[in-house]
Amino acid sequence: MSKFARLKDCVVTNKNVIVRVDINVPMSSDGKIEDDTRIRAVVPTLRYLAQNQAKVIVISHFGRPEGKFDPSMSLKPLVSRIQELVSNKIKVTFIDDCIGDKVTQAVSQTGYGEIILLENLRFYKQETKNDPDFARQLAALGNLYVNDAFSCSHRAHASIVGIPAILKPCAGFLLEAELDNLTNLLENAKKPVMAVVGGAKISTKFDLLNSLLTKANSIVVGGGMANSFLYALDKNIGKSLCEKELKDQVLALFDEAKKTNCEIILPLDVVVAKKFAEGEKATTISIDEVEDDDIILDIGQKSSQNLIDKLKKHQTLIWNGPLGAFEIKPFNLGTENFAKNVASLTKNGLLLSIAGGGDVVSAINSVNLADDFTYISTAGGAFLEWLEGKDLPGVAALDPS
Ligand code: AMP
Repeated sequence: MSKFARLKDCVVTNKNVIVRVDINVPMSSDGKIEDDTRIRAVVPTLRYLAQNQAKVIVISHFGRPEGKFDPSMSLKPLVSRIQELVSNKIKVTFIDDCIGDKVTQAVSQTGYGEIILLENLRFYKQETKNDPDFARQLAALGNLYVNDAFSCSHRAHASIVGIPAILKPCAGFLLEAELDNLTNLLENAKKPVMAVVGGAKISTKFDLLNSLLTKANSIVVGGGMANSFLYALDKNIGKSLCEKELKDQVLALFDEAKKTNCEIILPLDVVVAKKFAEGEKATTISIDEVEDDDIILDIGQKSSQNLIDKLKKHQTLIWNGPLGAFEIKPFNLGTENFAKNVASLTKNGLLLSIAGGGDVVSAINSVNLADDFTYISTAGGAFLEWLEGKDLPGVAALDPS
């Protein structure tokens, strides 16, 4: 269990509090916020600080501007939503930079009980490089540092590890909830445990799969990743996404799974199309019927039923990554159907369910089932690394000892 100071235990009144949040929300092409979950998630921390008369200095990244100013990745368009969600009684302002004299002045003009949002940290390449001088300039704006960005805590960036090396750090309410829940649910997970790992590529999730071999009693491999497993077993996967070069590693994983007595569950049938496009004819076939020009884009109904039958024999589910190319209909059905069954088993007290990662969370949100899961982590990469058993630099940076 990681050690960290909690916001409720810190004196915040009349302090300049720097809060690192992750408000990297998806935006539509016409500049509208598509999903404000990430803003909503940090509102309790911001509101608490402002109501307790702290000067709240909010910092975040937005997109990947690669260290250069890019107006399309400015945080400015988020100010009005923050204002709306926090409270009309709390003044929220914005300054179009995150370091320098202009920022120092704007912060000094901000009152206690007010919020000031600084511009995208990643307009400076020093942020991702964890440049000590950049961290020092940011830290100079405050007296207390609050990390409320669990989803960024796997990155050793200046705003995540540099500032807490200078200022007294503590965890915000969201980070605290993530750490408490993940620690409780994962370390005390009731057995048997089923892990579902989906998404595009296995190369990004090999460490996770290897780590799960000893933690889970069964691992369901779904999404594009399943194709690489099927290929390793000499199945025809047509033109599907596949990392053929990883065949030996996949076979080694099967061997290891036998040793740890972990069942690897693969699709029995799949939904295929000739092109990956909306409106394309989708057909469900057995994995032995895939043709050379087929693209596997989802699991079929038999696979879905098989997963649910097996899931019912487990007490805990850990889920990361979609089971199909869920963004395009009808390839969303495998993922959504699974989400519905998980939600219903959880609601009936038959399952503990933990899900994380942007895609799974957006699939669960699209069927309005988030409240029925035991716990949903807002984080993608950090959730993965946590599951892999790695130390997260941002969490380690909060350790006062
Ligand atoms: P990841 O970031 O690795 O979790 O991958 C998520 C992406 O995997 C989503 O954008 C899905 O559309 C994609 N995906 C899932 N299943 C497939 C599939 N069978 N073929 C191609 N892409 C897929």
